[in-house]
Amino acid sequence: MKFTVVGAGAMGLRYGVLLQEAGNEVDFVDAWQPHVDKMKEQGGVYVTRDHENEHLVPVNVYYPEEYTNQDQDVLVFFLKQMQLEDMLKRCKHFFNDKQYVLTCMNGMGHVEKLLQYFKPEKIIAGTALVATILDGPGKVDFVGKPGAGSMNMANYTEKPDDVTYKLVEELKKANFNPNLTTNFKGTLMAKVVFNSVVNTLCTLFEIKMVEYASYAGADEMSMQLINEAYDVCELDGIKMLNTRQEELDSINYVSKVANPLHYPSMYQDMSKNRPTEVDYINGYLVSLGKKHGYEAKTHEFLAHLVHLAEHNRQAK
Ligand code: NAD
Repeated sequence: MKFTVVGAGAMGLRYGVLLQEAGNEVDFVDAWQPHVDKMKEQGGVYVTRDHENEHLVPVNVYYPEEYTNQDQDVLVFFLKQMQLEDMLKRCKHFFNDKQYVLTCMNGMGHVEKLLQYFKPEKIIAGTALVATILDGPGKVDFVGKPGAGSMNMANYTEKPDDVTYKLVEELKKANFNPNLTTNFKGTLMAKVVFNSVVNTLCTLFEIKMVEYASYAGADEMSMQLINEAYDVCELDGIKMLNTRQEELDSINYVSKVANPLHYPSMYQDMSKNRPTEVDYINGYLVSLGKKHGYEAKTHEFLAHLVHLAEHNRQAK
């Protein structure tokens, strides 16, 4: 298949490089100048696995304005939520009616923006349960052994078609362990709830996932946040993939067994003085609750705390 990855940061590179290595044609479009210039200058991106075996992978990378190829089957969007709107405007000259969209961005807000440019039947979104770090311009680390992690994905219409199945096959070949569901919102919200607990708390306390999970009161804290989030989702009519207890079990499994030493993504942003996606995670739950007259007070308080931490870092 032919792919264009829009947003060649940590995850865009992981998906694009592994799809390319599995035999697909892949182009990359990105707007962060030091990164794009570095990849053009060195003829590709330096890739490591758990910071070992550094090697150069050639990639075709373009700025949005210089990219004109409209012949691609799938556009893969991996941006931070707050970057998406601007990037869609900058890229719209190479969008057309035939292209499918795949995205596994964290949080919620991206789907509505993508729907302004693409038809519902072309949108496939999901969640990526794998960690990747952009170490700096032109340099990316794929955390975990080949085949580590997994992903869930669903069609916006909840009706998979031939292109969806072909895409799942390519993602399997590239070792992403895809799981195709027919529950669009439930699939996306499972990760929003997960992130609203572990991502947010680890970021606030600047700790690894296992450091949170090993605190004696962690289950109680997690369950309070899960309960609020699930109350909101149920009011909105979302059919969650997991029960509340299964969501807690999954938080404990990932934090203690699968990815104990990982600093979650909002921590990565905070540590680089970049804004976090908290408004699209805890903040999304707060807004969705308000729509139904429900106050998700703990999530609202946590969103404030993250903004306070961002504010303090900016002030220093
Ligand atoms: P990223 O920050 O690595 O890249 C996103 C965009 O930001 C790219 O265009 C990149 O070039 C640009 N960028 C990177 N550093 C920058 C800087 N210092 N200044 C300006 N621009 C910069 O983001 P990502 O980790 O690839 O995440 C993309 C989406 O996937 C997000 O929604 C994220 O939450 C989600 N996600 C990330 C991971 C992970 O482990 N990284 C895992 C699952 C989901």
